This record gives sequence, structure tokens and C-alpha cells, in this order.
Amino acid sequence: MDFNTYQKLWNINEDLAKLGQEVYDSLSDKFTSIDKTIVSNQLRALASFQNNNLSEQHFYGTTGYGYGDMGRELLNNVMAELMGTEDALVSVYWVSGTHAISDCLFALLDGDDVDNDKEILLSITGRPYETLSKVLGLNKTNDNDEGSNYRNTSRRLNYREISVFSESNNPGDNNFCADSLDNEINLDLLKEELTTLKPKVVFIQKSKGYSWRKTLVKKDMKEIIDTVRTYSPYSIIFVDNCYGEFVEDIEPGSLGADLIAGSLIKNPGGGLAPTGGYVAGREHLVNRVSEELTAPGLGKGMGATLNTNKDVIQGLYLAPKFVGEALKGAVFNAKLYSRLGYEVLPGIDEKRGDIIQAIKFYDKEKLIGFVEGVQRAGAVDSSVTPVPEKMPGYDSEVIMAAGTFIQGGSLELSADAPVIPPYIAFFQGGLTLSHSILGSLLGAEYVK
Ligand SMILES: *Cc1c(COP(=O)(O)O)cnc(C)c1O
Repeated sequence: MDFNTYQKLWNINEDLAKLGQEVYDSLSDKFTSIDKTIVSNQLRALASFQNNNLSEQHFYGTTGYGYGDMGRELLNNVMAELMGTEDALVSVYWVSGTHAISDCLFALLDGDDVDNDKEILLSITGRPYETLSKVLGLNKTNDNDEGSNYRNTSRRLNYREISVFSESNNPGDNNFCADSLDNEINLDLLKEELTTLKPKVVFIQKSKGYSWRKTLVKKDMKEIIDTVRTYSPYSIIFVDNCYGEFVEDIEPGSLGADLIAGSLIKNPGGGLAPTGGYVAGREHLVNRVSEELTAPGLGKGMGATLNTNKDVIQGLYLAPKFVGEALKGAVFNAKLYSRLGYEVLPGIDEKRGDIIQAIKFYDKEKLIGFVEGVQRAGAVDSSVTPVPEKMPGYDSEVIMAAGTFIQGGSLELSADAPVIPPYIAFFQGGLTLSHSILGSLLGAEYVK
């Protein structure tokens, strides 16, 4: 790759282009190792499409009730195979990942016994992704409510949390932007809590999401799942797999998770899926979730796919490759910004379990500048200036760069940041490495 073109077409200053070239040239070993994962996942996907006899008829969707939708059924089978689970449901009726995860939680927990300390939902990776706060009955705008659990949905979940990343059991500590990072998984704390609480559901968030913490990689995931199996064998293990799909050569389903969920406008949609989510796991659990999505008695046998099947299927076919491109872009970003003097997470040599790259700016204007620069690199809406604003599901103001073909699609080049100290940007995506690099370069140009 020749960085002169960036300089010519986008007026990148010479020093930055030179540094970019140097960083890029130093990463060939990293790129080669990412290529290995791409190939492994790409071939698994291809084999699965062949096993399920993908043919043109699967591309035509249904209308109305959507009975006998062949494309929908094929997608469920392929997704189950790729996620390493008995069964799966892929649906454009989930409006987002949050919706799919929420349906899983309400399908697994009926909330009748909240006051008897039964049916405990235990998050072991600290406070879950921000958009789940209301689902869990948490509200962190009011300090007095930190960690408390009160009814603000029609159904109440008996929610507890610990963080296997820190030394202490610290419920209510919104993990977000913790300044010190303890990368060790604290299995002792986990064993203790499992033995005392015997939770009905153990919730694991693989990705760091919008927090400054380690993303679980397959080794961590396996240790955690094995520990839950040993110390609380009846717990249902549920993994929020958002941003994690195809980053490694194995998925949490193959490591023993009972149920996993994610968003189709992130990794597994391959940039083409127009909307939706998926769940994958044990058959009876997927069935329960499907009745939460549609209605008891209807389950996964219905749901017209209209004209979405081809894009969702082709997106899944392309996803391993595009996830790999995004990963390379994240590694480039990490190295560039650490050379520019910023703290980055994960570090250049850390194992990756998701496609997110976090950069800590410690400065509001720099953060906003960076996000603006990423927007300037968009394929769509590159002349729009992003501004911090309130968004559904988020407590603080959020600024987002999303010059994407799919609205909010974040396997595409994008950056998001809650506008609060210490001003961390979460950068991800770029369906091609060269595009992702442009995002990192223009981000740096706009950080003033
Ligand atoms: C993005 C994300 C979600 C929610 O997904 P949406 O599609 O934005 O609703 C949940 N968990 C994690 C870890 C995420 O990154």
C-alpha cells in the first residue's frame, strides 16, 4: 500500500502519511495471522452453505405469515453450524442486538420469584452494554440508584453483577472508563458467587462494548464456561456475542455456551444485512426465545423475510472476510495512535476478541475532532458534521461517526463515544482495510 494516494486525495499532511506508511509496513506479521483466521472462518461458512444446499430459491423471500420460508430456514441452520450450536434463529424482526438480547433474557427468566432470591440473573463481566440498562431495571443517571434494581419495565429481572476483571465484588460499579485495567480473570470470585447465588442465568459479555476493559478471548471464555459448569451446573450460560463473531476461529457456542445473541448490523451481517439479529444455542432455548419474538405457539415457523434473504445470506458469506479487514484496520489504528502518544486498548500485541479499538483522549475537543475525522472518511455522508446528542438507550450524550450504507452499521467504518471523561473513542469497522486506514488518518488530522 502506498500512502501517497491518501496524501494526494485527502491532503493528509506529510508527516502523518509517512508515519502511516511506517506503521502499515511494520504490521505484515499481524496481518498474516489475521488472514489465517479469515480463511478458517471463510471456509467454514462456505462448507456450511454447501452442506445446506444453498440455491437460488433460498434468495426469494416470503410475504404474509412467511410459512415455509426456505431462506429463513437455511439461515437458521447455517448460523447454528457457524456458531457451534444445536439451533439458531436469524431474524430481521429484531430491531437491534439489544432487542435480541432482551428477548433472550425475558425468555429465560420469568421474574415471578424476584423477591425470593430465586431466578437470579448474574452478570459476571460487570455492567452490561449501556442500552441494556433499562431491560435490566438499572438507571445510572441517578447516583442513589447505582446498583439498585427497581421496577421500570413491566417485568422485573432479579439482576446481580460481579466483574471477573477486578479484585473486588463491586456491584453498581459501572466499569466504564476505569482507569486501571486488570486483565486477569478472577475465577476465585466467580466460584464464590456461583456457589452462593446458584444463578439461573449467567450473563457473559464477550466484547468490551463501551468500557475500558479486556475483551474475552476464547481461552478466557472456556475457563469461565467450565467454571460455571463445575460450580453451578444448572445455570444457563448466556453470551452477548456482539462484535465478537468471526474474530477468532471458534465461537462461544462451541465452547459450551447454552445461548448466544448478536446483531446483524455488526459482524455477522457482513455489511449487507439490512437489519436484524440472531440467537443461537440449545434447541429448547432458541424455541423459547422465538416465542418471545413472535408469540407463544408461533415461534420460529413464521416471519416473512420479504426481500431480505439474499442480502442476509450473502452478508454471512462475506462476514469472515470483512471482519478480518476490520481487525486489520483496528490493529493499524492501535499502532498509529499509540505512536501519536495516546493510550489504546487493546494494545498492539494483545489477542483480540472483538473488532473494537478504544483510544483514550482525555480531552473533549480532541475526542469530538477524532469522531469528526472518521465521519469525513465515510463512504456516505462524509460532509456531515457529527455532534454529541442524546440517543435512545444511552444515558450520557453520545457522538457517532457513521458514514455507512446501513444506518448505524458498525462493521462499516464507524466511531462512537459517550461524551464523558476520560473521553474514550471506540473505533471499529471498515469493510476494507484501505478504507479503515483512511478513517484513522483523517481522525488524526482532525484531532487538534
Ligand atoms: C452493540 C452492542 C449491543 C447492542 O447492540 P445494538 O444493535 O446496538 O442494539 C449489545 N452488546 C454489545 C457488547 C454491543 O457491542
